[in-house]
Amino acid sequence: MAIIPINLKDGSLENEQEIIIGIDLGTTNSLVAHMVDGKAVCVKGSDGKSTLVPSVVHFTQKEEVLVGEEAKEKLITDPAHTIYSVKRLMGKSYKDVQNLEKHFGYQILDDDTESLVKIRVFDRFYTPVELSAHILRTLRQRIEAELGARVTKAVITVPAYFNDNQRQATRDAGKLAGLDVLRIVNEPTAAALAYGLDQEETESIAVYDLGGGTFDISILHLQDGIFEVQSTNGDTFLGGDDFDRILVEHFCKLLNIDAETLSEEKELGQEVRLTAEKAKKALSFADTWSGNLRGQELTLSRPDFEAMIAPLVQRTLDCCKQALQDAGLQTSQIDKVVMVGGSTRVPLVKQQVAAFFGKPVYDKLDPDEVVALGAAIQADVLAGNQKDVLLLDITPLSLGIETVGGLMDVIIPRNSKVPGKAGRQYTTSVDGQKNLKIAVFQGERDLVEHNRKLGEFILRDIPPMPAGLPKIDIQFILNADGILTVKASELRSGTAQSIEIKPTYGISEEDMARMLLDSIVHAKDDMQARGLLEARNEANNLLLAGDKFLIQNDAILDAEEKENTKALLTALREATQKDDKDVILAAIETLNTYTMPLAHRAMDSTIRAAMAGKEVNQTDF
Ligand code: AMP
Repeated sequence: MAIIPINLKDGSLENEQEIIIGIDLGTTNSLVAHMVDGKAVCVKGSDGKSTLVPSVVHFTQKEEVLVGEEAKEKLITDPAHTIYSVKRLMGKSYKDVQNLEKHFGYQILDDDTESLVKIRVFDRFYTPVELSAHILRTLRQRIEAELGARVTKAVITVPAYFNDNQRQATRDAGKLAGLDVLRIVNEPTAAALAYGLDQEETESIAVYDLGGGTFDISILHLQDGIFEVQSTNGDTFLGGDDFDRILVEHFCKLLNIDAETLSEEKELGQEVRLTAEKAKKALSFADTWSGNLRGQELTLSRPDFEAMIAPLVQRTLDCCKQALQDAGLQTSQIDKVVMVGGSTRVPLVKQQVAAFFGKPVYDKLDPDEVVALGAAIQADVLAGNQKDVLLLDITPLSLGIETVGGLMDVIIPRNSKVPGKAGRQYTTSVDGQKNLKIAVFQGERDLVEHNRKLGEFILRDIPPMPAGLPKIDIQFILNADGILTVKASELRSGTAQSIEIKPTYGISEEDMARMLLDSIVHAKDDMQARGLLEARNEANNLLLAGDKFLIQNDAILDAEEKENTKALLTALREATQKDDKDVILAAIETLNTYTMPLAHRAMDSTIRAAMAGKEVNQTDF
């Protein structure tokens, strides 16, 4: 649940040192970042060098769990018990990922075809959520060691195309790792934040993300500090690993290693692959590479390497073309191009992307770190440490108004997107009602008395009309800063009134959590209370209508009918005093059944009178 102290001046967090970390949970590598003296920095590992934690989990025979670099080493010696690329399996069913099985050195399966995928290691089954939690726990421990403090809150990034299941799985993994995931942020948005691009007014931004195993291009539209994903495209099997694969093939040819030997001898395969990666990385900074593999000298020049990977780079550009087309934009309409992912260090990639978009690319920040840095900046905003507040992306609690009998009528349900807008029409319950009180509440309970009142106002000067005739339109507009505008207008007369409220003002995270919990604990009582109130409202409307009916149809009804109707109205009035919905509904039913034929008769007689009147009028002409 996202809990956001929107305004530092108003909030209660001013003097609290709240640590919220930013995490990039990647397919190949993961990172954790936080703010140091107003600057986002990634946390280094125990070696004091790399900030990357390989997203690899290894299980030893003794069921010990290794994560990161240590686990990555086991990819060579024990691939069956070493899990990598688990992000590809998050929130997926076995059916979804069956075709991926061939890519993995470990066993993926399911119990029945609908269930979520599991990974078998020795005799145990692990879910992708559990495995991701191991990675997140390691990241948490890293930063706790660095800060010497406990960390329980995080922002985690996910690809822009992740669906709700995948996002939820990521949240669950965080929870399992002891982290309260305050916000799931799109990776391209985090990258744009890291470059401070949210400060611009309106822009179109392309985020080109070429990692180890995947390529993503996202077109973002920025307006007033809000990033909206306009289109995404990519290839879930295109990345630096493919550059490595091409080099593996190249080296194997030079060393006379055939494909069969390579796939059978897993250790040899990994060794060649690691050498290929070493060569590729070196060529990002040097014109030639030379090394040794199983006793043989190897050399490679940058132009040769570039010629080999050129078709793969072209494939990424084809995806960019498609993404632009989907966003309805030309390359010239893209204002900024942000580079993300380790493989964007390859000079050919940078050149080609810059040439494609016709502008220099943003590549000053470490492309491996940029997403985590953006996540840390977002975390800092949530901690209330930044002046410029971004946006709440979801409303943490429902917003609505009080209707007859003290019922909560939800207009914007909790977890709705912000900014957002919703409305509904209402009417009056009393004849000639001139003023209408609109009371705005926040919370999940059915009765407003259990929710939090945010404010109220009076819609005045409604022209006198019978109950039920005025059409009152109520609109809730929640803007990007979390300000709620409630507008009420009577559509027949045009009279209107509005207020502005900040729903998160003065409410603590604990309060919100308690309100949510209460709504679950009291769900049954609330449902009963709502049922009773709704029955009472219906009864009260019927009582009013019944009294009117007796007066208007005095001449049509005989004495017995009047007496019986009065007696049934009295019985209904008495029933409304009882706290039993069923008693009220039964009294309503009895009254309706008895008065139905009378009402038909009354209506017939009204129509007859009207027709007669018409004839008289017509003869006048
Ligand atoms: P990511 O998934 O973003 O962590 O990207 C990892 C990928 O970036 C791997 O394929 C790495 O081999 C690749 N990579 C890292 N550093 C370099 C480099 N200096 N040159 C080329 N590729 C690199």
